[in-house]
Amino acid sequence: MKENVYLDYSGTSPMKKEILDEMLPYFTLDYGNPSSIHAFGRTSKKAVDTARDRLAKTLNAGANEIFFTGGGTEADNWAIKGVAYALQNKGKHIITSKIEHHAVLHACEYLEKQGFQVTYLDVDQYGLINLEQLKQSITSDTILITIMYANNEIGTVQSIKEIGQIAKERGVLFHTDGVQAYGNIPIDVQDLGIDLMSISAHKLYGPKGVGALYIRKGTKIDPLIHGGAQEKKRRAGTENVPGIVGFGKAALLAYEGLEEHQLTMIRLRDKMINGIMETIPYVRLNGHPSQRLPGNVNVSIEFIEGESLLLSLDLVGIAASSGSACTSGSLDPSHVLMNIGLTHELAHGSLRLSLGDFNTEEEIDYVLEKLPPIVTRLRAMSPLYEKIKGGIENV
Ligand code: PLP
Repeated sequence: MKENVYLDYSGTSPMKKEILDEMLPYFTLDYGNPSSIHAFGRTSKKAVDTARDRLAKTLNAGANEIFFTGGGTEADNWAIKGVAYALQNKGKHIITSKIEHHAVLHACEYLEKQGFQVTYLDVDQYGLINLEQLKQSITSDTILITIMYANNEIGTVQSIKEIGQIAKERGVLFHTDGVQAYGNIPIDVQDLGIDLMSISAHKLYGPKGVGALYIRKGTKIDPLIHGGAQEKKRRAGTENVPGIVGFGKAALLAYEGLEEHQLTMIRLRDKMINGIMETIPYVRLNGHPSQRLPGNVNVSIEFIEGESLLLSLDLVGIAASSGSACTSGSLDPSHVLMNIGLTHELAHGSLRLSLGDFNTEEEIDYVLEKLPPIVTRLRAMSPLYEKIKGGIENV
């Protein structure tokens, strides 16, 4: 049996050795506080600055526009609450979508309790927002549009440049949650008209608990965390120097190898999607067929319970995820799958296989060998499937 086929890279990724190697000295040798003026401090400060430069280059941003945080969740919270508080005298209306990550949705819900108004845009069957609906939702009270770059469950990539253009034309700030996109697709914040973007190191083979917020120069934003003068007085707290160094290295590696990464991911992803669609009847591909993350596979397998499927896959050494109840720690099916119009049953039967740099062709073959018999076995327990078995075709 082949073991440890990891297909949950959208959840998190293993750290690459080169990244860990670059971080290690900052735990034990170069451990100075970047705010200290002695040599130890200066060494750490230099390392943080190098990481900042590296991140800035990958985004076509200035180094003074990159602010380190404790992860993607903090960056999302900061962008949304920070802009809301800074601009509340100008307006109190925010626009987002119904399929955002909870870091965005719950920050917006929190602001609603503080007297802000939030419009949650619908998405179509592929998970794309409607640009006309976006335009119509903007009022003189709108201060922020926050729409994710790419969805973490179904992989759909929004039309970011068009959204950036609409925001600019109407004089509204545009924040995007780029956590899933960063490291997987090229991002130029100038070209795309992005004012704020959240990113996170652990999705691109870097350490967990480190992220960053890109803030376009001149953007009005209040701090979320108050204290010392770190990050130009905008994000207090002694810097996580090893983590930041790791993030810098991860960004460098990701963008040096981006073209090859994308081509490999797309090849493996399409092999997986085609293999599943060809061998298993009653399967639906979730997300946009082409406007999707290079490594994202998300399918709904009818007459199957997502959790049983995950457990069966785990028993043969395949680590995947699903948008169904238990895996997300809630009783409701995924809000993303429900909002693209899936029934409860289809949402419960979803399977996300997210690919990364350590996956191989053989691993895809292994999944394609193991998955169909598991599905057949689980479906044999479904009375509904037994009834329907006559005319079989994919939906
Ligand atoms: N936003 C998206 C789209 C994500 O996928 C994630 C992580 O899964 C986050 C935000 C949160 O990032 P972090 O885990 O760094 O807090």
